[in-house]
Amino acid sequence: MSISVHEHYRRLLLLPEPWEVTKVEDDLIGQSVTVWLRWPDGVKVPCPACGKPMPIYDRMPERSWRHLSVMQYRLELRCAVPRCDCEQDGVKTMRVPWAEPGSRFTLHFESFAVAVIAACRSLSQAAELLCLHWDSVQRIIEQAVERGLARRSLDGLSLVGLDEKSFLRGQSYVSLMTDLTGRRVLDVVPGRDTVSGLKLWASLSKEQVDGVEAVAMDMGASFIAATQQAAPNADIVHDRFHVSKPLNEAVDHTRRDESAELAGEGDDTLKRTRFLWLHGTVPDDRKQHFESLLESNLRTAKAWAYKEQMVEFWHQPDADAGNAFFQQWYRSVMSSRLPRVKKVAKTLKAHLGGLLTYFKHRISNALTEGFNSKIQALKADARGFRKFENYRTRILFFCGRLDLAPHLPSAPTHSIP
Ligand SMILES: [Zn+2]
Repeated sequence: MSISVHEHYRRLLLLPEPWEVTKVEDDLIGQSVTVWLRWPDGVKVPCPACGKPMPIYDRMPERSWRHLSVMQYRLELRCAVPRCDCEQDGVKTMRVPWAEPGSRFTLHFESFAVAVIAACRSLSQAAELLCLHWDSVQRIIEQAVERGLARRSLDGLSLVGLDEKSFLRGQSYVSLMTDLTGRRVLDVVPGRDTVSGLKLWASLSKEQVDGVEAVAMDMGASFIAATQQAAPNADIVHDRFHVSKPLNEAVDHTRRDESAELAGEGDDTLKRTRFLWLHGTVPDDRKQHFESLLESNLRTAKAWAYKEQMVEFWHQPDADAGNAFFQQWYRSVMSSRLPRVKKVAKTLKAHLGGLLTYFKHRISNALTEGFNSKIQALKADARGFRKFENYRTRILFFCGRLDLAPHLPSAPTHSIP
């Protein structure tokens, strides 16, 4: 093979005719290679709007695109892109085959960057590996999400979840809509009130809303009101995660009350036992201790038992059995002397309809709980998080299951002579 350096680069870049490489420069000290590309004079340019070949009007000032490195050198493409004068669409800048309009990176670089960002634990780490400024990483993420949302299909969407997450160290909240079947976050809006719920519903088309059969959510008034208003035909399901949360809190509050009372009498039985009462967290060396606490006459132990009993509710075969189970559980709780648990039981009774729909759809927001660790990691890398928009974009990038990378020009399948 004996071809010129220009031709060598033209082939490696998969540049279609009549694009030419007009100059290649290396800077060994600066560790970079620069390649100049040109659309030849006198050749008509396809109008980016209508596709018809039109004469060159003028050329834009030269600009550059970062490409994948060549060996250990940073590779940059440069070009003064022609504008065409279309009879129909006016003066337009032609589309170049190596990059998306407005991007400072080539399709290959952007595609690689998306993969690196997705694989990294933090954006700072991605910025370092890619030798990019943090702002550029943020811009690549925004572009990727925009691309992914434009390509996304919501056909067959039928089971969704509404949930809230804290934002900016718990000072404020965002609301999320998730696709429970597709296991993806569909959208994120600021706040957690009825307006937030309505905004999430408004992110779907009317046909998509009509297709939604059931929605998993907590027992707060906001999402219920928003759903009754925007999607009146969808069943509301208060799933197990949103029921176990207030029950766990009731156990914790009971323990705190009782521990304070006991401490007043010089009894430290409940000291340092908080984590034992939270579901599934008893380590082997504390098991015996925990069992002795359960056998005691503590109110905390009774509250814990009611919380554990309620888990059985979700294992009932159908809504009738679920209803019978609940009524019995409720009577038992109401005959106890556990005000914290009684309060939760009353809330559950008021929302019983939404608990029993579980037996029809069997959905839960477990998925959203699963996203928590990912979102937590995103929050830890809080640079730029003052802006809600950045938070939303990153959640969609990491939890939206979007097709994020630019589509690459296909490589030749056989050798070119
Ligand atoms: Zn045109």
